[in-house]
Amino acid sequence: MNVYDSNKMIDALIPHGFEVSDDIENADLILLNTCHIREKAAEKVYSELGRIKETSIRRKELGLKTLIGVAGCVAQAQGEEIMRRQPVVDLIFGPQSYHRLPQLVERAENSRVIDIDFPEEDKFEHLPKAQKSVTIKRGLTAFLTVQEGCDKFCSFCVVPYTRGVEQSRPIKQIINEAKTLVGGGVKEITLLGQNVNAYHGAGDNEQTKTLAELLYSLAEIEGLERLRYTTSHPNDMNNDLIAAHRDLPELMPYLHLPVQSGSDKILKKMNRQHDAQQYIELIDKIRMVRPDIAISGDFIVGFPFESEKDFEDTLDIIKKVRYSSAYSFKYSPRPGTPGALMEQQVPDKVRLERLYRLQELLNQQQTDFNVATIGKTIDVLIDKKGRIAGQVGGRSPYLQAVHLDAPEELIGSIQKVKIISGDKNSLKGGLL
Ligand code: SAH
Ligand code: SF4
Repeated sequence: MNVYDSNKMIDALIPHGFEVSDDIENADLILLNTCHIREKAAEKVYSELGRIKETSIRRKELGLKTLIGVAGCVAQAQGEEIMRRQPVVDLIFGPQSYHRLPQLVERAENSRVIDIDFPEEDKFEHLPKAQKSVTIKRGLTAFLTVQEGCDKFCSFCVVPYTRGVEQSRPIKQIINEAKTLVGGGVKEITLLGQNVNAYHGAGDNEQTKTLAELLYSLAEIEGLERLRYTTSHPNDMNNDLIAAHRDLPELMPYLHLPVQSGSDKILKKMNRQHDAQQYIELIDKIRMVRPDIAISGDFIVGFPFESEKDFEDTLDIIKKVRYSSAYSFKYSPRPGTPGALMEQQVPDKVRLERLYRLQELLNQQQTDFNVATIGKTIDVLIDKKGRIAGQVGGRSPYLQAVHLDAPEELIGSIQKVKIISGDKNSLKGGLL
C-alpha cells in the first residue's frame, strides 16, 4: 500500500509543477514514506533521515534549498518525536492527508508543518487522477486501494491506530480509477486493503457491496485481464468471495490469507477470533472450488507466551496447508498495543531461532510448489524485458516469476508458456 500511496503523492504534486526525480541530490522536495508495522521499519526512518540531512547540507553548500517531508504510519504515530529528533524535517503528514499535500508543501516553505489528524473529507475524492503518460510508465500491473484501516485489533498490530477505522471506497470511485488505469495500459490490478475482504463500499442506491460484487463489476471492464486482492482476514472470507474464485476467470488462483500462528492458545492471545481448525476448514473449502489455488500467508513467531509446543503447532499447520509462498516475522512489540504489555515475552534469541526453522520449511514449500509446475503449460502475463537479451519476464496466475526466450513485442500480452525448469524464486519456460 505504501507503493500505491507514494504514487498518489506524486499524482497530487504533478499538477502543481513538480516532477519525479531519480536523483535525490537533485530533489527540491524529498518525501520519505514510512511503515510502522515492525520496529525495524520504524527505526530505519531515523537512519534514512540522517542520510537525507547530509544531502540537504550538500545542496545548501551549492545554494540550493531542500524541503523534507515524512509521510506514512511512522509520521502518524511518532510525528512529534520525529520533529524533535530530526530538526531537518519540515513537514510531517499521516496516511489520511495525502490529498492536502500541495497546500502542506506550500505552508512548509515558511514554517514546520505537522498534519496527522484524521480528516472529515474523503481523501480519494480530492486526489487527482494519474496522468495517462505517468500510468503508462508505471507498467502493466497496478495496485488500487479499495479499503483502508482495520477494526479487528489483533493484539500485536498497530494498523488500527495508524491507519484508523475500517473504511471502504464507493464502488463507482474504484471503477473509475480502474478504468483510468486500464486506459493507461494496465492489464492486471491488485485491490488493496489492510483487511481487503472486509470491503463493504457504497454501491448505487447507497446499498453496500461486498468484495466479491466489486470483483464482478471490475471484471466487466474491457482490457482488464487479471484481478487479485490482498490482504485478507480468515473471518471475512465469505461464501460469495469463495464462489468468485470458482466462477470468475479474471480472478487469479492466488490467495494471501494470513493465519499468524497454528496454536489455538496463541491465536487467542493474538485476538485473531478463530482457531487453527477453522482456518484449515476454510482452506479446504476454498480448495474444493478451486483445487489449484496458490495459498500464501503471514506468520509471526515468538509472540508472548509462545512455547516450543505452540511453535510446533505453527509448523504443523504449515505442513497441513502447504503454502506457495509466505512472509514470516519475528514478533516485534509495538508501542500502544496489548501484546507489548504482556508478560512472558519470548527472548530474542529464541524468536530468531524459531524464525529460521519456520523459514526453512516455508522455503522448501515454495520450492516444491514451483517445481510442481514443471512440465505444465500456464498463462503468463509478459510485463517486462528479461535481464538477458532476447528474454522477457512475466507472472504466472499463481504469482510466480517466469522468464522465457521471446521477442519484446510480446510485452503486454498473455501467452501460453510451457514450464521447463524452476527453483525457489522463479520459473523458466518456453513459448508454446
Ligand atoms: N490484515 C492482515 C495483516 C496486515 S499487517 C491480517 O490480519 O492478516 C501485515 C503482517 O505484518 C501481518 O500479517 C503480520 O504477520 C505482520 N505483523 C503485524 N504486526 C506485527 C508485529 N508486531 N510483529 C511482527 N509482525 C507483525
Ligand atoms: Fe492488524 Fe490485520 Fe489484525 Fe487488522 S486484522 S489488527 S490489520 S493484523
